[in-house]
Amino acid sequence: MSAVTTKAQWLQLADSLTVRGQAFIDGQYVDAASGATFECISPVDGRLLAHVSSCDSDDAQLAVASARASFESGVWSKMAPVKRKQVMIRFADLLETHGDELALLETLDMGKPVSDARGVDIPGAARALRWSGEAIDKIYDEIAPTADNEIGMITREPVGVVAAIVPWNFPLLMACWKLGPALASGNSVILKPSEKSPLTAIRIATLAVEAGIPPGVLNVLPGFGHTVGKALALHMDVDTLVFTGSTKIAKQLMIYAGESNMKRVWLEAGGKSPHIIFNDCPDLRQAAKAAASAIAFNQGEVCTAGSRLLVESAIKDELLALVVEELGNWKPGHPLDPQTTVGAVVDAQQLQTILRYVEQGRQQGAILACGGEQVLADTGGVYVAPAVFHGVTNEMTIAREEIFGPVLSVIEFDGMEEAVRIGNDTIYGLAAGVWTSDLSKAHKTAKALRTGMVWINHYDGGDMTAPFGGYKQSGNGRDKSLHAFDKYTEIKATWIAL
Ligand code: NAD
Ligand code: MN
Repeated sequence: MSAVTTKAQWLQLADSLTVRGQAFIDGQYVDAASGATFECISPVDGRLLAHVSSCDSDDAQLAVASARASFESGVWSKMAPVKRKQVMIRFADLLETHGDELALLETLDMGKPVSDARGVDIPGAARALRWSGEAIDKIYDEIAPTADNEIGMITREPVGVVAAIVPWNFPLLMACWKLGPALASGNSVILKPSEKSPLTAIRIATLAVEAGIPPGVLNVLPGFGHTVGKALALHMDVDTLVFTGSTKIAKQLMIYAGESNMKRVWLEAGGKSPHIIFNDCPDLRQAAKAAASAIAFNQGEVCTAGSRLLVESAIKDELLALVVEELGNWKPGHPLDPQTTVGAVVDAQQLQTILRYVEQGRQQGAILACGGEQVLADTGGVYVAPAVFHGVTNEMTIAREEIFGPVLSVIEFDGMEEAVRIGNDTIYGLAAGVWTSDLSKAHKTAKALRTGMVWINHYDGGDMTAPFGGYKQSGNGRDKSLHAFDKYTEIKATWIAL
């Protein structure tokens, strides 16, 4: 539970906060070898938060060497799972103990409402660490069904050195979806946060050591642009690369792996998820609430954002009016005000991207029902009002490209076949929502959608117990659930003749 409950208290805490910007290698905070830094500017009000180490290939070299040495030493990789479990749980506990500080860092760094950071991101990150830790002494290996004079053992071993490159929209949460299973299964990790949101990753490095994770097992390398991420992706001694971010960079990482040591590459990438509302929707008000939340939560900077609202034509006008009304509850405000539901977008560059898409939607003939303009400019921060376009066709740019901002495209359809055809007409395949009172139609639609997740009569469900990830150009492999361990382990078959 948070001890901080008012905007004034959050602002006071912000003023007294020490913000660290150094890399963390081999259990120590260090400057980049080059001494270079970049500025970390808050989108909340434009204030300078920190000078952050701008790591490059020299730092990657040091971090990979440290990770490799710690892995080979066995200090973590060969620790009994029950012991690793205890450390992971302590690590999770420390995230919670420092929950106010971490939530504040997240909000100042990337602009999300502090009540979301405190209520969603930090508890979710702690849960990912705890859940993975709790699982690790309950997963058994296998014995093959051999003939009587043989034994076939099928065992899982940690893969070795893991590089994790993560995005800025849920900085700590995305990091912990990787760190949980990666660390619990005994690997040594180099975490590369986004240059737009490096602060919480840097902060938790020392909490990991405090929890008992040995030096070298978790390294954190902030860096600007592609520099240090590319160095890790091309490194000959990184065994596995796990990534959450855009499809464009995801494809580049596959190339880097092919150009170097064929490291395993696991990708969680973009989305353009269809949220399908049939005429027989059980509750249009609930659907409208879900549709508003699916585009406005986290400023629309969500990979699973329900950015294409597919509505059956008979209910289109009614639903559109309800969605616009519901978006009245999603007005941008000061992120440190606990009542705020929509915060700042991550930076001025992202704001320009969003405004450009809004302009393109207009030019291509879509009708703007609300929002889409910059607001609260006098704060010095970057804010945009959630936008709804209707009269959108699936061929328009705003329906095809991931905007990663609060811009909703309402597209009409008639019948299940057309809903599925439009829903699947995208390079992405991350998630989908379906609202209907017809059980068979719900199942048929869910089966026909080429997406890793489908939500029936709600949007954006799930927790650590269910896998998260996409089909097609939304990526491969899954975060969360026991399936996530596939990314962090090699399978060994040991065959014994008796
Ligand atoms: P991005 O691809 O621009 O950057 C992601 C990370 O890759 C950052 O840390 C960045 O510094 C690094 N990077 C950039 N260029 C690189 C290079 N050449 N080599 C190595 N690393 C490089 O994505 P973003 O803007 O940070 O995040 C938004 C994207 O993330 C959206 O496309 C969104 O859909 C996706 N996302 C996906 C999921 C999911 O689970 N599927 C979750 C959240 C976000
Ligand atoms: Mn930032």
